[in-house]
Amino acid sequence: MSKKLFGTTGVRKLYGTQFTLDMALNLGKAVGTYLGSGTVLMARDARTTGRMVEDALSAGILSTGVNVVRIGLVPTPTLAFMTRELGYDTGLMVTASHNPPEYTGIKFWGKDTMGFTPDMEARVEEIYENKEFKVAEWDVLGHESQVDDAVEKHIAALLNNCDVDLIKSKEFRVVVDPGNGAGCVLTPYLMQRLGCKVVTINSQPDGHFPGRKSEPDAESLGDLSSMMKQTGADIGIAHDGDSDRVVFVTNDGKVIRGDRTIALLAKEALKKGSKKDIVTTVDSSKILDEIVEKSGGTTTRTPVGDIQVAIKVRELDAILGGEACGVFIFPEFQFAPEPFLTICRILEMIAKSMRTFENLISEVPAYPLLKAKLKVGSGKKEPVMKALTEELPKALGEVVEVLTVDGLGISLKEGWVLVRPSGTEPVIRITCEAPSEEIVSGILEDARKAVEQVIKTV
Ligand code: MG
Repeated sequence: MSKKLFGTTGVRKLYGTQFTLDMALNLGKAVGTYLGSGTVLMARDARTTGRMVEDALSAGILSTGVNVVRIGLVPTPTLAFMTRELGYDTGLMVTASHNPPEYTGIKFWGKDTMGFTPDMEARVEEIYENKEFKVAEWDVLGHESQVDDAVEKHIAALLNNCDVDLIKSKEFRVVVDPGNGAGCVLTPYLMQRLGCKVVTINSQPDGHFPGRKSEPDAESLGDLSSMMKQTGADIGIAHDGDSDRVVFVTNDGKVIRGDRTIALLAKEALKKGSKKDIVTTVDSSKILDEIVEKSGGTTTRTPVGDIQVAIKVRELDAILGGEACGVFIFPEFQFAPEPFLTICRILEMIAKSMRTFENLISEVPAYPLLKAKLKVGSGKKEPVMKALTEELPKALGEVVEVLTVDGLGISLKEGWVLVRPSGTEPVIRITCEAPSEEIVSGILEDARKAVEQVIKTV
């Protein structure tokens, strides 16, 4: 069946128009019906609608006879981690991740720290659509309770999994920008426990996101960049709204794309063990493949979305997974994104190398990358994409390989282009990368013309 409720990662909608409390209540009933028994662990990020949506969702679950345990305002990775830690079947995170403040949503986690697979989501959606809800009698309703030490448990596990003494010995100076999101309750405290001198900005949870846009990128991290230049700190750390992403900023204020950070981590990880597989999404830089290959590893590409990466990491028994937007998965710790362990690993690398972060990351060159998005009428995305499978390679020339893992990816003799319909907006997105500015501009121009032409004619 076609999924109306679920997108790339769980449910994410505009509060009030696309998503109402009635929907949250029924979704709770659908999840409870799907599970049949047991306990759901529940948390939320800092959004103004969070508590209310969580209450409605909980009421729905309790009405089916399934229990609810709440752990309050915590990062998404803490919810996934605690679901396994406490031995529950399902974790629900009320969050719209990095979307603007007017959005709300829910991310679904299983007992093994994996997100719900598309099949599991489809089953919940089917129950939701058909309203086949289980109704528990008054004397067998679920009961609700609260656990208060989730963040402390998560921090303790992180400290157990990194070289605390080594990091402490360096007395790093870090600037943390959680963007008024859920990371406010964890990252500054983890840094203190690692002996860092911590300066924070945007570090009080606030669902209006007063400090900056929730998505951490070069455009939104201007304040963090200037703080880095002013303070001369060792590293800048930024999160999105539910803190499942981390983006790093160098001592001189440069915002580093996640795929370069994956390459840096991969190089280090490939030195250690016998595992050779690195998993990333179709939109990561080719520099990642080049560095992984030089380090004796293999890169596998998946469709975008952290769950797609996690599924492939598990399937291949890979050593590391990640997305260019700042998602990192360490399967030895959990299958949910682990921005906090990423920070620990990067600090270990800096400490061991006796070099600066900027100096370390300079080993992973940045190829110029350009993006564009073109408006497309509703219902036209599919025919446009279909027509492009023929038209786009013709418009580009010197095609080496055509990939259809997610959207249409075309490797060229120099550079590549990826054309994807957006999962959330009425647009087609174009991403291009090439070794020089001149080449990448040319590729974008050719691709844009081809897509415009197809949108006009389809
Ligand atoms: Mg997120």
